[in-house]
This record gives sequence, C-alpha cells and structure tokens, in this order.
Amino acid sequence: MKVLSISSEAFPLVKTGGLGDVAGALPLALAAKGVQTKTLIPGYTQVMKAVTGLVKKYEFDNLLGEQGTLWETRYKGLDLLILDVPDLFDRPGGPYIDPKGKDYEDNWRRFAVFSLAGAKIAAGCLPDWKPSLVHAHDWQTAMTPVYMRYAYEREIPSVLTIHNIAFQGQFSPAIFPALGLPAHAFMESVEYYGDVGFLKGGLQTATAITTVSPSYAEEILYPQFGMGLEGLIRARVNAVHGIVNGIDTDVWNPETDTFLARNYSLKTLQQRSTNRQAVAARFGLHDDNSPLFCVISRLTWQKGMDLLAETVDELVRLGGRLAVLGSGDAALEHAFLNAAARHPGRVGVVIGYNEPLSHLMQAGSDAILIPSRFEPCGLTQLYALRYGCIPVVARTGGLNDTVVDATHAALTSGSATGIQFTLNDTNSLLYAYRRAFKLYEDHKSWTKVQKQGMKTDVSWDASADAYVALYSSLVAKGQ
Ligand code: ADP
Repeated sequence: MKVLSISSEAFPLVKTGGLGDVAGALPLALAAKGVQTKTLIPGYTQVMKAVTGLVKKYEFDNLLGEQGTLWETRYKGLDLLILDVPDLFDRPGGPYIDPKGKDYEDNWRRFAVFSLAGAKIAAGCLPDWKPSLVHAHDWQTAMTPVYMRYAYEREIPSVLTIHNIAFQGQFSPAIFPALGLPAHAFMESVEYYGDVGFLKGGLQTATAITTVSPSYAEEILYPQFGMGLEGLIRARVNAVHGIVNGIDTDVWNPETDTFLARNYSLKTLQQRSTNRQAVAARFGLHDDNSPLFCVISRLTWQKGMDLLAETVDELVRLGGRLAVLGSGDAALEHAFLNAAARHPGRVGVVIGYNEPLSHLMQAGSDAILIPSRFEPCGLTQLYALRYGCIPVVARTGGLNDTVVDATHAALTSGSATGIQFTLNDTNSLLYAYRRAFKLYEDHKSWTKVQKQGMKTDVSWDASADAYVALYSSLVAKGQ
C-alpha cells in the first residue's frame, strides 16, 4: 500500500502543535507495518534551508495560476515531497502567521494551492509513483478531497483527520471563484454558513473521517465540541473513526534523551531528582521537596489556562511549585508573569516555544497540569506518562482515553496512571490540586502511579495497526 500524507506541518522540520508531531511520526510507524508513505509539505523557508539532496520530481505549471516545483528527498526517516512555490511559502514568520503574529491574509490561497497539488499527485501526475490512498490533515489540506472530487475523476480513497475542529479554515464566499471549482461545488460541498469552509468541504467529500481519540469522535457529534460542524459529522457518523495518537518513543525516551540533565529508567527512577533540580534552577524555583507542577502548553482558553492562572495562588498556598512554559494570549502570558512576580521561588515562567526545555520539564516535574476545556487527543500527557511525570487532566477527549484516574479501585488494582477531574470552573481545579497533594503525601502510591504510567504503551504501534486496518478496508472497497 502506498499512502500520500498531506500536511502543513511535519516534525522535526516544522511544528506548531500536535499536528506536526503526528504527521512526522505516523509515517515511520506505518513503514514498520509495510505501508509506504510519502509526505507532502509546503516548501517554507525553514524547510528549504534544512533539507539536502533535493531531486526534482515534477513541475506544476498551473496551480490556481501559480507555478510550483515538487522536490523529493528523505529527511530523518521521512520520504518527503516538498511543494516549492516561493511566492506563497518562502516568507518570514511561522507557517500561518507573519512576523507580527497576524494570520497571512492569503492563507486560503496558500493552502488551496497546496491542497490542489496533493489532489494532482493523487490523480497520478507523477510518472513513477501513484498512491493507493490519500491521508489529509486538518483544514489546511482538507481541500484535497474536494479537488479530487471535482477536478479529477475520483479514483482513490481519501482519509481526512481532524486534529482540532476549532480550526476550520472559514473564509469569505468572495474567494470561491478563485478556487477553480465548478459553481455547483459551492452549495454541494464547501458552503459553510454562507462562507467557504475548507474543513467543511473536506468532511463532506473525504471517503473516511478520523479524529485523534475515540472520546473526541463522540464529543464532536454535539454543538459544544462540534463547533458548527456537528450536523455534518452526525450525517457522516458511519464514516467517522476515533484513533488515539501515539508518540515517537525514540525521540521521547528518558533513557537516551539528550535534553535531560540525567537519563533514567523505570529501574532508576530516583535519578529523576537531578532533572527536578535542573528544572527548579532553570525557572528560578526553590530547590526543596515540595511537589513541582508544570505546564507545557499554548496559553489559550481551550487549554483552560485562564482557570489555571486564577488558581495559582491556591496551588502555592497548598505548598506547590509551578513551572510554566508556553506562549499564546497576551493577557494569559501577563497573568502567569504576574503570578511569578507574586511568588518568587514558587512560580517560574518561560514565555516562548522551547522543545529541549519541554523534555527536561517532563523529566523533572512531579506532575503536569492539563485543564483543557476540550482536547482532541493531547500529547503532553503521553510524554508525561513515559517520563514518570504524573498527568493531572480534565476528563475530556483524548485525556479521558489515555489517563487512568487514581480512584481507590484503580490504585488498589495498580492500573492508575494519573488524576482526572471534571472541569467546570476554578473549583474543579482546586479539587484536583487537593487530590494531587494527597497522593503526593502517600509516597508509595505516588511512585506506583508513576511507574504504571511509565509502563503504559504510548507508542504508535497499536494506533498504526488501526490506521492500516482502516486504509486496507477503504482500498479494498474502492476496487
Ligand atoms: P495542541 O496541538 O493542541 O497544541 P498537543 O498536546 O496535542 O496540543 O500538542 C502540543 C505539542 O506542542 C506537544 O508536543 C508539546 O510538548 C508541544 N508544546 C506546546 N507548547 C510548547 C512550548 N511552549 N514549548 C515547547 N513545546 C511545546
């Protein structure tokens, strides 16, 4: 089986969140199962700088009026196809935002062009490689199945994965004529509350829809989580599958991770304390025996960071320390910086994105706080499990599916791996803090939960099997 994966991010070349991690890791896990994946990514400035050994694969002479070169190379185990359209992708700033942090105004055009290139490859434009299935990710590539339906005879099946339904690619209807689709495609597929919806179009036209955990697959059937798309998801419910993400257990391995102050394993857990000291030093925290909590997150409403900021004082009053790494809403960044100023030695904040530091924090913190209002899958709790950092999580989406709450029964049977709580308001967080402190005081139980987490299989193995089964059934049906 040959899969064309189309993604606007792929770790380690370009990542702004979980999408990048998944697009970078899933192909490697699939390769171990005999599935050959080529990953199409945009030729952002940083990508073109990082890769070497480019071989010209194809020249696109008309992608909505743009010319583009398709390069092929291999990078850290990934077979990459890179769409080089300098006009659209060779820019300063992030993949979606300019250096001032504003969305590029032509994002609709950048990712329509990118999606169209994916559809052309799916239709067999490359002389020596034709995929048996297309796997698109999120709104940025959701137009690929739309183009496959209208611009080409639909020959191969497509899968569209929702990593976060909150990001939908909704644009003014005025852009429709520039998408190069027939007029009837507007009402049939992409129309979304009078606008053009990229994700909506993809969900309407993809052969199958997946999302990144079984719980989230159920939640998005309802308005609170479906965010306007719940009706469509319900109409297509038989095509929806929830497959939980895994993590790259080579990149995230406490025994070999070079970002740690000291490596450790299940058997040498006490050596975590060196990392704990290193985290305290890095964040200007007192080096004492009080529980060290961390946050590694986008600082946004989705992640419940407003509720956390409101309860920092109580966490400190209970005797905890807190290390926060993140960036996002300016008001939340200020709220955490203020908390650090109020509690010197107890709360430390680093604003920004820092991959090495995030590894050290997982290795040195006692617990990670993840009070998300919704969480399609979530990866930080999976890293935490692997690193013996106890996840304290809101009971939603993938957090619900991957963490076993330390109830009395779960503690007794030895299955507990973390703490779950129902997130309603700040009181729910206070309740979670108290439970975490109580568990921390019971050293034996705490260590048991840590070790059970470290023994949990968070690799891609089982999930890759689920993708292979889905791909195979779609390809078999399509023949
Ligand atoms: P989302 O994709 O919604 O942001 P996930 O938990 O699925 O959330 O994935 C977030 C990824 O980004 C994880 O790999 C996490 O470690 C990483 N991350 C988030 N914020 C930071 C940060 N400030 N510095 C380093 N890594 C971060």
